[in-house]
Amino acid sequence: MKLTSNLQNTFSDLDLTSEGARRFDEADPLREVRTQFHIPKTESGKDVVYLTGNSLGLQPKNTRSEVLEVLDDWQKYGVEGHFKAKKAWMPYHERLTASMAAVVGALTSEVVVMSSLTVNLHLLMASFYRPTSKRRKIVIEHHAFPSDRYAVRSQLAWHGFDPENDLIIAGRTKDQDLLNESELESIFESRGDEIALVLMGGVNYYSGQLFDMPRIVRAARKAGAVVGFDLAHAAGNVKLALHDWDVDFAAWCSYKYLNAGPGGPGAIFVHEKHGSDVSLPRFAGWWGHDAASRFTMPDSYVPTPGAQGWQLSNPPILSMAALNASLDVLARVGMRAIVKKSSSLTAYGIALLMAECHEHIQVITPQDPSRRGAQISIRVKPMGISSGKQVPEQLEEAGIICDWREPDVIRLAPVPLYNSFEDVYTFVQHLKQALSNPKQPARHSI
Ligand SMILES: *Cc1c(COP(=O)(O)O)cnc(C)c1O
Repeated sequence: MKLTSNLQNTFSDLDLTSEGARRFDEADPLREVRTQFHIPKTESGKDVVYLTGNSLGLQPKNTRSEVLEVLDDWQKYGVEGHFKAKKAWMPYHERLTASMAAVVGALTSEVVVMSSLTVNLHLLMASFYRPTSKRRKIVIEHHAFPSDRYAVRSQLAWHGFDPENDLIIAGRTKDQDLLNESELESIFESRGDEIALVLMGGVNYYSGQLFDMPRIVRAARKAGAVVGFDLAHAAGNVKLALHDWDVDFAAWCSYKYLNAGPGGPGAIFVHEKHGSDVSLPRFAGWWGHDAASRFTMPDSYVPTPGAQGWQLSNPPILSMAALNASLDVLARVGMRAIVKKSSSLTAYGIALLMAECHEHIQVITPQDPSRRGAQISIRVKPMGISSGKQVPEQLEEAGIICDWREPDVIRLAPVPLYNSFEDVYTFVQHLKQALSNPKQPARHSI
């Protein structure tokens, strides 16, 4: 019954029956948290097995009242809601700072909730990608999320450089699923004086690999480069200590593991050492202006010290309210408990997958729990008659929602806040069924 994170030792001891899954759930200290979320239903009214919290987290039950409160205050007060609302809109973003800073391991002055992820990456690159003709290259990881690739390529082009030559894609030549940090270190050693910026995921969206961020910071720093992280798949998922790791900047979204709803607000981290430097070049807007004189609308721009000085616009209070609700849930549970359950849940999932489906799959995500969050990526091996695409279709028919990446990768995110061991068990049984007994594709006559 003991589920430690060391698979090698426990693989043979694990109870991999459905009874075992139920017992793991009974022993799970977070099992009640699931009841604080709305679980989507199948047409027949059963809970779906929802394994895409890494794409869009589920709705906490306290979200609705939090959003309605803003609508009510707007109805009642109009513009005066900026000050009179139950939670005044004017300083609303500050309400989110402490819990968001706790999620990423930062000082409160280093974090602000604002705008959206890709926009924020550009705003931060405006300040932290300061290329010279000699030092101008950007390093990203192979299999970086497309938006990040577009963002860095467009930054290079905007500065008049050549994205083909000036973007270094770590791990691309070997074309492996996982990136060894030593590959990055050797890039920094051989080409360090050409590199201006390293911009990587904290957890890679495709493989689920959690990078050794402090090690990357140390190596990049030695080479004289600036380091930023895209934490879309890391925030609310893994333990982060951005301040102590000496990360220069970071950005993330709130609709994946932070459950703030579709298109929820982004957030940024700017290390204290930069935040206090008001002379740093940046794109300015009124909401970043020093709060004391913001509404006197002076001619010259004085940034608020800290991350708040990167804000441009007044924030979307309705979606901030949804984030406020979800951060409440997260703060009550705490990152420590989340990480602990994530480690067990994924260890269990990997053990079960290896026991039930090993002939047909390869687990891409690292086996070492300190190198992953709540995600398991699986490559489905080619299977005679069936096209890979039938697998997700069969899973969907069985009421399982997970992510399929062409041509052959399934990503599942067993999220500690609302997924159960039974969810993982059900997924693996249906995957096994789909892989070993694929349905014949429907025949169409021409
Ligand atoms: C989800 C995700 C995005 C999405 O960016 P938006 O600007 O919020 O649409 C970008 N980068 C990564 C790494 C992601 O995982």
